[in-house]
Amino acid sequence: MNTKAQLMSDNDAHAPVETKPLAIVAEGLSKTYSEGTIFRKKFNALKEVSFQVREGEVFGLLGPNGAGKTTFIKILLGIIGKSAGSASLLGKPAGSRAGRRMVGYLPEHLRIPPHLNANSALEYYGNLSNLPSRTVRTKRTELLQLVGLADRANDRCKKYSKGMLQRLGLAQAMLHEPRLLILDEPTDGLDPGARAEMRQIIKRLKATGVTIFLNSHLLQEVELVCDRVAILNEGQLRYCGNVSDIGDFIKSRPSETDDALDGLLIVLEVTGDPDAVNAGFEGQTFAVTEHEANGNFTVKLTVADQAAIDELVDRLRDANISIRSLRRERITLEDAFLEIVK
Ligand code: ADP
Repeated sequence: MNTKAQLMSDNDAHAPVETKPLAIVAEGLSKTYSEGTIFRKKFNALKEVSFQVREGEVFGLLGPNGAGKTTFIKILLGIIGKSAGSASLLGKPAGSRAGRRMVGYLPEHLRIPPHLNANSALEYYGNLSNLPSRTVRTKRTELLQLVGLADRANDRCKKYSKGMLQRLGLAQAMLHEPRLLILDEPTDGLDPGARAEMRQIIKRLKATGVTIFLNSHLLQEVELVCDRVAILNEGQLRYCGNVSDIGDFIKSRPSETDDALDGLLIVLEVTGDPDAVNAGFEGQTFAVTEHEANGNFTVKLTVADQAAIDELVDRLRDANISIRSLRRERITLEDAFLEIVK
């Protein structure tokens, strides 16, 4: 730890994240599943995965189906054992009672008994975690306020929307004041309004200093809420860093294919005859992202440099195409993700 970090209290919520203690550490973490009883076929679901999450971060674990995300979370929570390497939570070995006590978990499909209301549901979950009823009763008002359910606390859960149930799930994960929250697909299946509410709550929680580790396939959500991400593909760590640095990372990689995201990503809004538009963009790898009946097209493509943009504009004008707008676009997390896992 450097001097600056030593001068600060570990719990200082305003300290720069890079000086904070480590919340999650994975070192060469591997998991091999064995299938079948006689010819035990081996499958490497995690291959020497190493990364760290610091306290106070909102960190996203991303990857396509089968990448190893659930396996990683199950090892952290001690639901399954690792095959090699090590993992720790807040300085305690993953899966240990001491580590688990400091972690709140919202599983992907938490089934809250429908006959309970928010108050009794929190008592029910509190009892499951051996929390004294008195502690739950003191804590639940504040928690229900935090997740925006205070005025519905006495309504039966069967009347709740999916978003409300998910927010109640978040409140149950926070009951024992964990320092680390692990959220499995927290916004999956929610409508845009409910997703926005969930994002607001995650931001409020972050402000309290709790570390949030979430697993999601909704990349735009992750981009809006996470400070850093790790991307897994086929059990291997392919990226770990700031969401805002991912575009530079992609551009700095040696390009493996012709359509790699190296160069300038631009979006053009043009008007013209479909054949003329095709002719104007001939020789480019382009995607028409919108096409209206009145001949308006929105086209996305990557070009090498400014000279290539000038050349393209000349070609479009020669083909009698009106250019309504042209803008440079930064590489989104989704673009980068698709590039990394392809
Ligand atoms: P993700 O959560 O990213 O979709 P998982 O961690 O669930 O990925 O799975 C990673 C890989 O491990 C997948 O190919 C999956 O089929 C395999 N897998 C998961 N659990 C088991 C298991 N219990 N036995 C054998 N293979 C498994």
